[in-house]
Amino acid sequence: MTDVDAVVIGAGNGGLTAALGLARAGVQTLLLERHNVPGGCATSFIRGRFEFEVALHQLSGMGTESFPGPLRDMLTRLEIIDRLEFIQMPNLYRLVLPDQLDITLKADRSAAVDSLKARFPAETEAIDRFFDLVYEYCTQWVGVTIFRDPESSPEKYPSFFKYALKPTQTILDDFFKDPLLKATLGIYWSYQGLPPSRLSFGDFAIVLWAYIEFKPFHLKGGSQALSSTLLDAFLQAGGDVRFNCGAREIQVADGQVTGVVTDANDQIATRHVVSNASTLATYVDLIDKAHVPAARLRELGARTVGTSFVNVFLGFDCEPAELEITETTNFVAVTDDLDEVYRKTRALTAPEAMLFTCYDVDDPDFSPPGACQAALVGLAYAEPWLTVPPHDYFDTKYRIAGQMLEVLYRVFPRCRDHIEELEIGTPVTHMRYLGHPGGAAYGFDQYAKDGEYFLDRRSPIKGLFHVGAWAGMGGFQPTLMSGYSTSRAVVRSLQAGKGNG
Ligand SMILES: Cc1cc2nc3c(=O)[nH]c(=O)nc-3n(C[C@H](O)[C@H](O)[C@H](O)COP(=O)(O)OP(=O)(O)OC[C@H]3O[C@@H](n4cnc5c(N)ncnc54)[C@H](O)[C@@H]3O)c2cc1C
Repeated sequence: MTDVDAVVIGAGNGGLTAALGLARAGVQTLLLERHNVPGGCATSFIRGRFEFEVALHQLSGMGTESFPGPLRDMLTRLEIIDRLEFIQMPNLYRLVLPDQLDITLKADRSAAVDSLKARFPAETEAIDRFFDLVYEYCTQWVGVTIFRDPESSPEKYPSFFKYALKPTQTILDDFFKDPLLKATLGIYWSYQGLPPSRLSFGDFAIVLWAYIEFKPFHLKGGSQALSSTLLDAFLQAGGDVRFNCGAREIQVADGQVTGVVTDANDQIATRHVVSNASTLATYVDLIDKAHVPAARLRELGARTVGTSFVNVFLGFDCEPAELEITETTNFVAVTDDLDEVYRKTRALTAPEAMLFTCYDVDDPDFSPPGACQAALVGLAYAEPWLTVPPHDYFDTKYRIAGQMLEVLYRVFPRCRDHIEELEIGTPVTHMRYLGHPGGAAYGFDQYAKDGEYFLDRRSPIKGLFHVGAWAGMGGFQPTLMSGYSTSRAVVRSLQAGKGNG
């Protein structure tokens, strides 16, 4: 039996920043990861001469050196900011609906507004009012939730209280007539996994505002560079890691964590566990049922497992310009009906709206010279994929990838003749590599009822902490930040000599 102060289960974003935060605070920490590389979603893989980025399309919350965002602040506090090279993207996205719409929005409020007005002149005044509301809402949200104003009230923060929980679609319908304009503004919903009719305006507005104010970023070496840097810093701070070594059990006695058993059957005594595994797996698979309060299981049972992805990773034998790819971030859709797009995420068909990211546009060194890579991605729930018998799986994924490519060729026809490498990921792939139910990369569906205003994220088991998408919001910024803030909570708990602060 080994004794450590804390065990971190899972080396995804949340697990890595938690582990580093703990090791830096002098906490003796063991990190367990079932895969053979750090990162979880934040990773890469190699095919031919390409190292494919798995997950990161746009990093939020960075901001610039002169106007740092919360993620830049956190990476600075973790003393790894200088080890990473970030690439700022000038645009939010280009959205193309073949034969209907082709618009690019800059990551700048007035330039984005100008582009929208030029394409939708009949709605000029509404566009101004909409952006005023987004900014007013987000300013008030900062006051209430970031600065935690003790005097917050509907009188002091009227937009926050009025709009936080309203469906985004209601606001889009109130402001605009043209469905294409609504789709143009609503397309970022895919970063949160729920369409505007189901996504709270609060969550939608913050994403749009944050990408404009703090700009979208990528980084040299992709998300694997971030994951590897976090791991290196953790090891340099005295942390210990075991790869190919999942946690099989979290041991509990009298409501307090007492240890962890690994897949290799090693027993580690500890009173603090930070789990980056899904909360479902943590409470259902890792902890003996007798120690899990029924209320926690009921609360988990009331939530729904979120979307995963179908990804087509493409290595091209030429530069982006030869393919007429001019933007890094492109959305390609065949309909402006975002509810219909969402319905199809539960069917075994090609997604009707896809993100197409060509990393080499803003980072020409991302792929080998004379080549470039792109990811074509659509949201997909796992259920239909789990009905595919093993002998049909290969054909099914190639059939759907083929349909996705046919849509892509309507916008970028030259891509057809330049594919050198192609790999496909499905929800089943994400289940296998992440170990999460449904291969869900954002955790649970991000309904407002399950969000920050209503859920108590503390564990009823002393010494147990949760980080990552399943414990809050999905996405790089929220998961990275959840790990760091949890490390602070564990340190406080250790200092107080109790289970979980
Ligand atoms: C295709 C795709 C595109 C995306 N695009 C973006 C984007 O552009 N911008 C953005 O902000 N976000 C994006 N995301 C979402 C973002 O990547 C995730 O929300 C985030 O990385 C999840 O981090 P996490 O901390 O929850 O850990 P995860 O990445 O879920 O990792 C969890 C880790 O825990 C390990 N683990 C699980 N169980 C055990 C166990 N029992 N023992 C040991 N280890 C265990 C897993 O192996 C894994 O390494 C994307 C995701 C995907 C898949």
